[in-house]
Amino acid sequence: MDNFEKLGLCQALNKSLKKIGFKKPTPIQAEAIPFILAGKDLLGSASTGTGKTGAFAIPVIDRIISSNKDECALIVTPTRELAKQVINVFRDLLGPSNSIKACCLIGGEAIGKQLNQLKRNPRIIIGTPGRINDHLEKKSLSLKKTAYLVLDETDRMLDMGFGIQINQILKFMPQERQTLMFSATFPKNIITLSKKYLKNPERVTVDAENTLSKNIKHEVINIDNSKKYNTLIEQLEKRKGAVLVFVKTKHSTEKIAKNLKRDGFKADALNGDLRQSKRDRIMKNFRENKIRVLIATDIASRGLDVRHLQHVINFDLPQVAEDYIHRIGRTARAGASGEAICFVSPNEGHLWLNIDMLLNPDAKHKYSTRGKSSNKSYKPKRKSSGKSSNGKNFADKPKRKSSGKSSNGKNFADKPKRKSSGKSSKKTVRSSDAKPKKRFYPAKKKTKK
Ligand code: AMP
Repeated sequence: MDNFEKLGLCQALNKSLKKIGFKKPTPIQAEAIPFILAGKDLLGSASTGTGKTGAFAIPVIDRIISSNKDECALIVTPTRELAKQVINVFRDLLGPSNSIKACCLIGGEAIGKQLNQLKRNPRIIIGTPGRINDHLEKKSLSLKKTAYLVLDETDRMLDMGFGIQINQILKFMPQERQTLMFSATFPKNIITLSKKYLKNPERVTVDAENTLSKNIKHEVINIDNSKKYNTLIEQLEKRKGAVLVFVKTKHSTEKIAKNLKRDGFKADALNGDLRQSKRDRIMKNFRENKIRVLIATDIASRGLDVRHLQHVINFDLPQVAEDYIHRIGRTARAGASGEAICFVSPNEGHLWLNIDMLLNPDAKHKYSTRGKSSNKSYKPKRKSSGKSSNGKNFADKPKRKSSGKSSNGKNFADKPKRKSSGKSSKKTVRSSDAKPKKRFYPAKKKTKK
């Protein structure tokens, strides 16, 4: 589809789309918008950074503007940052003079401010499950007129344990409504949920499920935990542009950011323990290039859209393989290119293995043989025989919980010795090793009932 006009959207929307520079729909928008405008429930999936927000925001706004009833929409997101990002897209699309108001209900923000916003009868409510439920319990929010429900990043919401909260919210929703579920990935539990909450949904899958942008260059660095910090510095020094570094714990974000600041980098930490006002300020500084390096937990792994973000470094591997796709999907957005670097320590071999199996399902058979467990560490190699160097099967290696400490017991974030021998022991596997050449599932561009 070569322009938005063909979708027959209302004039106000066409004007806003021009103003924000959206000339033609992205593939997910071209596929999903006509179904949503036609009132269908929808299960939508596309790679991260491909315009999913517009795919639901544009038609929902169109339907709300065109309706002569006081219909409302509820958009539920897993994280506060994503909710804020989504409300900004809605506000841009509504335009400054629109009488339709949008309101953001997220934890960590003063409830009084939200109560004031709710008194102005917003017709678009965006929020995180916990705070939405708080307002429902207080009866400060009514969903009786909610004709549209969007569950964004649904798989993440379930991973974060929001399943019960979502069920709770749905009890307050009218039965007669249009429900849209979006996510970059759709594991089985989402399909089950969709059967419960969607009525005869259209399924829109643009590009393969679980795919990464083709514009991401991948690099894997096998490294001991104790050398990760120095290697991070080397990587930051040799790269230009904004960097998002993912670590496992909130504590690590603070430690590493503190050490990087001491070592002369414009860095900051983002984690769920920070006050919301601080989280907002840090995200704003990162978006505005005032911070070059953001050290974050997985709260930053979903949906965040920072256009100039060039590099994602996985200082620690994610515990859940799917999160890898979301993490590195923060770069190479909207057709840009980016780089993803993975630090893999010997005790993260099993995590890398899970990621590798997700990226290369065809290679699964290599890992399926059960053998004796091995205590030897696994250095990830894509073309591996599935055995560790001692010939034992690494697939059975007992999973160890990382303590965030290096092998000598010291906290890695506390070891910023710049002149380390990290280089010599570092083994870099260039992108051919890590780049998913094959699609994880057969490439699909289809819509079916
Ligand atoms: P999203 O996947 O919704 O986070 O969108 C990723 C990026 O694509 C954001 O920076 C959007 O502003 C941008 N984007 C979304 N739709 C379009 C479009 N139709 N034309 C140009 N840019 C778009």
